[in-house]
Amino acid sequence: MSNLRRGFKTWCENAAASYRRDLALSRASPLDPLALARHLRIVVWAPEEIPGIKNDVLFHLTVTDPDSWDAVTIQSNGITAIILNSAPDIGRRNNSLAHELSHIILEHEPAHIFHTPDGHLMMNEYNAVHEEEANCLSSTLLLPREALLQAVRRGLSDSAMAQHFGVSPQLLKMRRNITGVDRQMAYSRG
Ligand SMILES: [Zn+2]
Repeated sequence: MSNLRRGFKTWCENAAASYRRDLALSRASPLDPLALARHLRIVVWAPEEIPGIKNDVLFHLTVTDPDSWDAVTIQSNGITAIILNSAPDIGRRNNSLAHELSHIILEHEPAHIFHTPDGHLMMNEYNAVHEEEANCLSSTLLLPREALLQAVRRGLSDSAMAQHFGVSPQLLKMRRNITGVDRQMAYSRG
């Protein structure tokens, strides 16, 4: 069962349209989450770009265990930064970045905050409701209903659509289901 409050999905669609307006994009355009991060003045670092990162930590994140993490948000001295794993493919990277941005946009308080030895705050645990909200907002930001509908009407294949919007095939499938775009198309074809 969904934990999303009434009207939340519509709020997400409106946010997706409004950020596209801010970035001078049409409502049906793909949204690069890196551009959104810049717009929100959030720094995005690959592991090797983290100031002062120690070699053994970098080695662990990128060589020993690159599959164990996607992205993490840190706050330090009034700066919010997202560390994004460079290893996964573009669809998963975009999803991870949009997900972290969504927690920030929604002003979610993390359930657990970790202090790194040098005094930064690391946040990567949220409650289940916040996770569901962040998933809803991030998938809508990347693939708003209207953009999806236009792409389906143009007859693009699933793989062409996923590539166009920079999303994973799984996210595309989920959005096709949740938005009811396929039902609408079947109905309009009679
Ligand atoms: Zn999350």
